[in-house]
Amino acid sequence: MELSRKAMGIKPSSTMEISSKAAQLKAEGKDVVAFAAGEPDFDTPEHICQAGIRAIETGMTRYTPAAGTPALRQAVCGKLKQDNGLNYTPAQVVISNGAKHSLMNAFLAILNEGDEVLIPAPYWLSYSEMVRIAGGVPVIIHTKKENQFMLTKEELEQAYTPKTKALVLTSPSNPTGMVTSRKDLEMVADFAVRHDIFVISDEIYEKLIYDEDKQHISIASLGKEIYDRTIVINGISKSYAMTGWRIGYAAAPLEVAKLMASLQSHMASNPNSIAQEAALAALEGSQNCVAEMCAEFRKRRDYIFEREEAIPLLSALKPEGAFYLFVDISETYGKRCGEKEIHSAADFASALLEQKYVAVVPCADFGMPDYMRLSYATSMELIKKGMDRIEEFVKELQ
Ligand code: PMP
Ligand code: GLU
Repeated sequence: MELSRKAMGIKPSSTMEISSKAAQLKAEGKDVVAFAAGEPDFDTPEHICQAGIRAIETGMTRYTPAAGTPALRQAVCGKLKQDNGLNYTPAQVVISNGAKHSLMNAFLAILNEGDEVLIPAPYWLSYSEMVRIAGGVPVIIHTKKENQFMLTKEELEQAYTPKTKALVLTSPSNPTGMVTSRKDLEMVADFAVRHDIFVISDEIYEKLIYDEDKQHISIASLGKEIYDRTIVINGISKSYAMTGWRIGYAAAPLEVAKLMASLQSHMASNPNSIAQEAALAALEGSQNCVAEMCAEFRKRRDYIFEREEAIPLLSALKPEGAFYLFVDISETYGKRCGEKEIHSAADFASALLEQKYVAVVPCADFGMPDYMRLSYATSMELIKKGMDRIEEFVKELQ
């Protein structure tokens, strides 16, 4: 029997796949160092876990409103006001099962068959597949390294067609770690308003910025016209080390939020009631845990970048935020590791895993086949061990 052509056209998430492969090798007793999935290695802070436990003990174990509990939606409004200077009412906020789910709801709410969505590459691999699932057409814009992988006005205008419906913006970026400046946000906002398209602003790494002179700005805060066209996506997975709890959220113009909630009411009913209580504690409790984790990520960022810079044939930009190092490996092309010749980051990554048990993400699915991504959301000890092995691996190439 023929299965869904649409589903068969979707690539499974390779970040998730590589992480399970690394976990499987570990389970087999191999000494693997995984720079794979972007997942903080910290435990969820104690006061947040306690809120989850309390939720179970006090019987908060039933369905909640589809768009999330009133208390959590209110807390999200408070956070958006305080951190981002954004005014939203709870009716404009939809809580979902992770920011991934929020993004999927957003694409489903705004796209009609054949609508185009501009995605600047390098991009987080799920955007293109989500757009396809929603019936849209991903249009990849290749940004340049010499522009710090920042979009230019010319690139945007060139990619625009009358079918363009939205643009995806990720700052800080996965996979480059770059933070979009106010000036660049203004340029993007002007483009979106002029052509009357939506901006899906993925701000999930907002709290993880490492340089004093860099600051997170939500594009929705740049004026009413852009606010009316922006869907802000955020979540608690990265900043509170809560990847497994599965809570993300969107804030959007009222009509869009209503559609997202309606779709979600059929597809998922509501996000997990216990996780919503924990998310409430995360947003309303002390933010010291976020600052502490951020400080630790900063140390790791400095260390991993320094190590990478010292390895011949590799090059990278110093990440400003998130927890990824995006490394150009194209200078290793034509070199051999045993019998195998390297012609792509995928070749590099598979040889590295086979020879040295280091898992990295080759970035063809991020639109950049010459690059690998190293997630430094892992301990200093493992980063050191992994970088020692990568250095050895590159030096042994012939
Ligand atoms: N956006 C980006 C850029 C990400 O890297 C991730 C990581 N999975 C997500 C959204 C989704 O995060 P989650 O579903 O865990 O909230
Ligand atoms: N966002 C993380 C990553 O890029 C987690 C895995 C995923 O959802 O893709 O590795």
